[in-house]
Amino acid sequence: MHTAAAYALPAPDGSFEKVTIQRRELGPHDVLIDIKFAGICHSDIHTARDEWGGSRYPCVPGHEIAGVVAAVGSAVTRHRVGDRVGVGCMVDSCGVCAPCLADEEQYCTAGATMTYDSVVDPAVQPGGHTLGGYSTRIVVTENFVVAIPEGIGLDVAAPLLCAGVTLYSPLRHWGAGPGKKVAIIGMGGLGHVGVKLAAAMGAEVTVLSHSLSKQDDGKLFGASAYYATSDKQTFRELRGRFDLILNTVSANLPMDDYLRLLNLDGTLVILGLPENPISVKPFNLAKYRRSLAGSMIGGIAQTQEMLNFCAEHGIGAEIELIAADEIDGAYDRVVASDVRYRFVIDVSTM
Ligand code: NAP
Ligand code: ZN
Repeated sequence: MHTAAAYALPAPDGSFEKVTIQRRELGPHDVLIDIKFAGICHSDIHTARDEWGGSRYPCVPGHEIAGVVAAVGSAVTRHRVGDRVGVGCMVDSCGVCAPCLADEEQYCTAGATMTYDSVVDPAVQPGGHTLGGYSTRIVVTENFVVAIPEGIGLDVAAPLLCAGVTLYSPLRHWGAGPGKKVAIIGMGGLGHVGVKLAAAMGAEVTVLSHSLSKQDDGKLFGASAYYATSDKQTFRELRGRFDLILNTVSANLPMDDYLRLLNLDGTLVILGLPENPISVKPFNLAKYRRSLAGSMIGGIAQTQEMLNFCAEHGIGAEIELIAADEIDGAYDRVVASDVRYRFVIDVSTM
């Protein structure tokens, strides 16, 4: 067993506390990673505070992991000791279903094993559920470990492991590029990376944010236009404008207002995952043959492709580095949309 320090929440309404956890001995295909940085995703908060229901405790969140390989199992071929690597939202999947064979492990029909809060055999993770990246070490099977290219700092790379691929995947799937008008709703952790990625792909990018307070940043990240959704005029002016809208907001929005912003055959993709249902007027879909879709992170091969794309285009997340004992306060600030633009835990402070 490998001992690691971690920050765990003992119960949904508790505070993070420092604990000691165990990681399994390396199997032939396992990689032991010394974690250097872990991003704080809003999904960590939904899970830690049990907003989706059924969370398991103690909860060690963290699925935006960047670190360095410390040891490898006897049969590992993809990574070597000293390599800069990342782990995202998944640590395993069945490997034989159609989505897995199509490199879409996030849609594994047996259910992918998520980096934290997934039930597993105690031989896989002592305690019986996975524990994530708010810790000093993790053991992951080599196929779920990606290489972080030289040229991206590990700190600004960490958020790409979830926020990056969650935006990259639908941008690619729905063909963002030159001649496409793309809108990003919400410029938080996911949204700000989405603006950078869509702009680098050559799309015309508009940010729809609740106020104009982050407008200058949005333009720096590559947006050509920035609108406040608190202003009713925004919805009149932009009616029928976009080919693709990516909704990254962690709270429920009036979906009809946003559907009306789509052009013929346009698609609104739901990425933000508030716990409550959404409602739409059928007429707003039928008109202009619009689609309402969803998308979940991205596969491992696409995560690697995204990291390579980011290295090529000089893209990293904008981060605020915090110490491990600042997680509770950081959560409150994320919920208040007071983050520029991703909190990243400096794991050396554990
Ligand atoms: P975040 O950093 O908190 O960003 C969310 C942004 O949404 C905020 O910065 C804010 O942007 C906007 N917003 C928040 N509350 C709002 C409200 N009440 N009304 C209008 N706008 C509001 O969160 P994140 O880490 O980017 O995650 C966003 C959501 O995506 C979460 O629900 C998370 O669970 C989900 N997620 C989904 C996937 C997936 O695979 N589908 C992956 C990761 C995360 P402005 O200030 O610009 O308005
Ligand atoms: Zn996430």
